[in-house]
Amino acid sequence: DRIRELLMLYSTPDNLEHTVSSLHFTEKDLQKALDDDQFILHYQPKVLVRSGRLVAVEALCRWPHPDIGMVSPAHFIPLMESTGLIHELTHRLIDQSLNQLRNNLDNSKAIAIGVNLSPVVLTDTQLPDELYKKTRALNIEPELLTLEITESTLIENAARALETLARLKMKGFSLSIDDFGTGYSSMQQLNRIPFSELKIDRSFVQSANTDKTRKAIIEANINLAHTLGMETVAEGVETLEEWHLLNQLHCDMAQGFLIGKAMAAEDLPEWEQQWTE
Ligand code: C2E
Ligand code: CA
Ligand code: CA
Ligand code: CA
Repeated sequence: DRIRELLMLYSTPDNLEHTVSSLHFTEKDLQKALDDDQFILHYQPKVLVRSGRLVAVEALCRWPHPDIGMVSPAHFIPLMESTGLIHELTHRLIDQSLNQLRNNLDNSKAIAIGVNLSPVVLTDTQLPDELYKKTRALNIEPELLTLEITESTLIENAARALETLARLKMKGFSLSIDDFGTGYSSMQQLNRIPFSELKIDRSFVQSANTDKTRKAIIEANINLAHTLGMETVAEGVETLEEWHLLNQLHCDMAQGFLIGKAMAAEDLPEWEQQWTE
């Protein structure tokens, strides 16, 4: 009955935004989906702006729901966080990412994988040791796993989160600061945690060609990151104009629909072939 209810909510195409935002699952739905191993990862290419070369992918969670189709993370991550199910989800997704990494390495492709870490899992100070064990078991350099953390979320449980991040760094994992510029303590976080990558939020990339303020913010952030020895990634690059501007501002990497959407791992080789043509 719940399924029918959800289906009805979901199947109003001309009101999709509204119906999608009213999609709500229960803890039981999510626990069952975890038990059935229904959560998968899609991978979005991260390429060098200078050359277009594929250097990394970001792993984005997807739920191919057996009855309602592909569900985006916005509809289940918050409940996963408030119920604590996010811990189990994170471990499963990291296992999937590491298997993918191992697979790529076996095919002589050293492509880093970025995984999103919820602030909730940063309260688990065992996480660094557990992740390290997983990489050792598969003989993977921890550096190839980039952990993306949204800066605004660092505020809660700050002391604990900082300790976990420091331990992750000590184990050799790469740390990336996600959605940079959208939080309110940007500069402060930067000198407290050894991030190696800074991701410029899509809201700054959009229309940076026509909006002088946004362009100035991007430029300042890129320069700041480089001064601190960090690499920069522009998120949500959708047009060639944006790409050219980023190149001019010496942004290191780009990610967005212009380059490619998140896709199943098996579709990446075909995407790469078309992209490099
Ligand atoms: P995010 O980490 O900032 O991920 C980028 C989001 O922007 C993704 O949405 C991606 O599909 C979308 N995107 C990429 N390029 C473009 C573009 O050119 N234009 C536009 N309009 N959008 C673009 P998605 O996959 O729906 O993920 C949304 C958020 O959900 C993520 O934001 C992340 O915060 C969270 N999330 C996704 N997967 C996971 C996960 O495995 N764990 C956790 N904790 N959070 C996740
Ligand atoms: Ca991210
Ligand atoms: Ca982001
Ligand atoms: Ca985001």
